Amino acid sequence: MWTTPRPVLSYVLAVDLLAVAATAATAGLLPITGADWTRLAILIGCSIVHVELSRSIERVRKLAAGSGPFVDGLTPWHFAAVLVLPAPLASALVVFTQTYVWLRVWRGRRPLYKWVFSAATVLLATQASAIVLAAAPGAHPGIPLGWLGIALVLVAAVLRWLINYALILGAILVSSPDLRAAQIVSEFSEQVIEAGALGLGLAAAGLLEFDPRLLVGIILGLVAMHRGVLLTQFRHASRTDGKTGLYTPTWWHQIAESALRRAVATRTSVAVLMLDLDHFKRLNDTFGHLAGDEVLRAVADAITETVRSYDAACRWGGEEFAILLPEVNVTELRAIAERIRNQVKALVLDVAATDQTAPPQVTGLTISIGGALYPSPGITGLDDLQLAADTALYGAKEAGRDRVHLASSPEVAAAHEEDEVSRQDRRHP
Ligand code: GH3
Ligand code: MG
Ligand code: MG
Repeated sequence: MWTTPRPVLSYVLAVDLLAVAATAATAGLLPITGADWTRLAILIGCSIVHVELSRSIERVRKLAAGSGPFVDGLTPWHFAAVLVLPAPLASALVVFTQTYVWLRVWRGRRPLYKWVFSAATVLLATQASAIVLAAAPGAHPGIPLGWLGIALVLVAAVLRWLINYALILGAILVSSPDLRAAQIVSEFSEQVIEAGALGLGLAAAGLLEFDPRLLVGIILGLVAMHRGVLLTQFRHASRTDGKTGLYTPTWWHQIAESALRRAVATRTSVAVLMLDLDHFKRLNDTFGHLAGDEVLRAVADAITETVRSYDAACRWGGEEFAILLPEVNVTELRAIAERIRNQVKALVLDVAATDQTAPPQVTGLTISIGGALYPSPGITGLDDLQLAADTALYGAKEAGRDRVHLASSPEVAAAHEEDEVSRQDRRHP
C-alpha cells in the first residue's frame, strides 16, 4: 500500500473515513426487531450460497483469462437489505459479505486497501439509499408503498449506483489521469449489469417479505447471469491481444474476410498494411524484454490513434502488426502509413532498463510498412492481399527499413515510381 502514489492514497483514505462516518451517522436511525435479525440471517445465507456457487466460475475465469474485474454479484443482496432492514443491519450485511468474499476469493490476490476501498464505496452508497428510503411513505424498513414509494426506490437505486460509480471512477482517474475517454465509456457499458442487479435486489426484497423460500429463484438467476457475463469476457479475451489490446490474428482475419466480401459485393476498395518494427532484437538486447513489451504497447497505441475509427488493427505476432483499411485509395493508404511511421518515430518512452548502462529512454524507433490494395490485378482473396502486403514489407526492409512500400499495381507502381524519382532527386540534387 505504501508504494501507492500519494494522491491515490489520500483519495482512498478519504473515502474510507467518509464511509465510517456515514455508517456511524445512520447507525441510530431505527430500532431493530427480532424479525429483522431473521431477515439478516436469510440474506447472509443467500449471499454465502451465491458466493460459493460463483466462486468455482471465478476460478475457471482466473485460469482462462488471467485478469479482469470480478463482477460484484452481491449488489442484489445489498440492495434488498437496504429495502427491508434497518440501516445498521444493512451495513452489517455489507461488511459481512465483503469480508467473506475477501476470505474466499481475493485473499492473497489483491491488496487489502483496494478491498477496503470497495467495501467503503458500497457502504457509502448503502447509507445514501437508506436515507432516501427513510423518507418514503409506509413503514420503513419494508418496501415503500404506492407509486411514490416505487419512485423513491428508483431514486435510491440510481443514487446508490451513481455514488458507487463516481467513487470508483474517481479512483481510476486519480491513479491513471491519462486514461482515454473511450476506455472509461467502455467501462460504463458494463454498468448495465449493475442496473439489472439493482432490479433483482428489489425483487429479492419483495420475495423476502412475501415468502423467503422463493429466493431460490433469485439465486438461480444470479448464478446464470454470472455465467453469461463470463462468456462475454471469454469472447472479449479471445478477440484481444493481451499485451497490446489490439485484435488477435484470428479475430482480425474474420473481420478482414467479411470486409473483403463487402468490398467485392459493393465494388469498393479495401487495403491491408503489414508492419514490422526495425531491429527490435537489438532493442530487446539493450533494454530488456520488459521494456520491449512497453514499446510494443506504445506502438499499438500510436497505431490505434492514427488509423480511422473503422480500421481494424491486430498484433500479427511478435513485433508485427496488420491493419485492415476499408474504402481507401492509394494516396490515402500511403498517407495513413506515413503517419504511422512518423508517429512511431516520434515516440519517446521512459523505460526501466535491466542494463544499468542503457540510456533511460527509448527514442528513434523505426518501423517498416508494406501495403496492398483491393482491387488490384492478381488479387482476388484475402490471402493474395496479405501476401502482396507482406512482399511489399519485405521490399521495404530490403530497401533499408524505416519506409513505406505499397504493392505494385499499375496505379500503385506509378505512385511508387514518382516516389523513387523524388527520393533520387533528394539524393542527387
Ligand atoms: P528487422 O525486423 O529490422 O529485420 O529486425 P528485427 O530485430 O526486428 O528482426 P525480427 O523482426 O526477425 O525479430 C523480431 C524480434 O522481436 C525477435 C524477438 O526478440 C522480438 N520479439 C518478438 N515478440 C516479442 C515480444 O512479445 N516482446 C518482446 N519484448 N520482444 C519480442
Ligand atoms: Mg518480425
Ligand atoms: Mg522486426
